[in-house]
Amino acid sequence: MMAGLASSEIPSFSQDRAWEDLIAQCEMGARDPGSPGHEACGKWIKERLESLGYQVEAHSFRMPDPYSEGELELTNYRAWLPGTQDYPLTFAAHWDTRPRADLDKDEARREEPILGANDGASGVAVLLELARLCAENGTPLPVEFLFFDGEDYGRSGERHNYLLGSTRFVQDHPAYSPRLLVLLDMVGGKHLNIRKEPFSKQAAPGQLDLIFKLAEEMGLPAFIPEVGPAVWDDHIPFIQRGIPAVDLVDFRFPEWHTLDDTPEAFSPESLAQVGALCARVIFETPVVW
Ligand SMILES: [Zn+2]
Repeated sequence: MMAGLASSEIPSFSQDRAWEDLIAQCEMGARDPGSPGHEACGKWIKERLESLGYQVEAHSFRMPDPYSEGELELTNYRAWLPGTQDYPLTFAAHWDTRPRADLDKDEARREEPILGANDGASGVAVLLELARLCAENGTPLPVEFLFFDGEDYGRSGERHNYLLGSTRFVQDHPAYSPRLLVLLDMVGGKHLNIRKEPFSKQAAPGQLDLIFKLAEEMGLPAFIPEVGPAVWDDHIPFIQRGIPAVDLVDFRFPEWHTLDDTPEAFSPESLAQVGALCARVIFETPVVW
């Protein structure tokens, strides 16, 4: 491995900014497709990225709604800094939230949409702060950000109705080939435990090991270097395309898919652990990715 920057030279990830961006999303309300919060949040993500100097592709598409007579209108956002488009290191998260709290303890409320402070807003919040660091400091390798829509639309067990945005993104961008895609999902847990996700381990074993090694060096308690549960997440369509992709995810928190997925249940410090690790991936060890 080539020597990288000293850790003091890595731009510092702001926990406070990331947390503010988590709150800002929750203040828009539930962000499930078709809701007012969904419309507001998509616009907000795009404007934020543009204000940082990114070129943004709004990848919009329509499809039949599997659960109604109507159509779904979904939009993924892809952001890059001008002049840095080849073989990027890509960071991704889903920005939609789940339209139903199907695991809520109150059976009568299981058709209500969740706020998604962790399942939605946490990944986006970390991405937006990383986007700021990259725009302000420049990066050794090109870095891109992808915000997926329609990740969490499916009813439990109906896999084909999940990952709607990422699946369509891969279909519509046949030449898209990042050197590595790092997906963040549900990274705000108070007792955050990120383990090595098996699909990721199969698709990008060296990269996943290195990420966990960096986490260990940094003394980040959220990262446990053991194999964890497999997760059907937005990295799957990329892996199916042969792209190395890893998912940093922890869905084993009590508020998962319930109406309690609200900011009070989560932790700014957890966002900061994940953000600091991603900043190292971006700024310190470009040669290995
Ligand atoms: Zn979910």
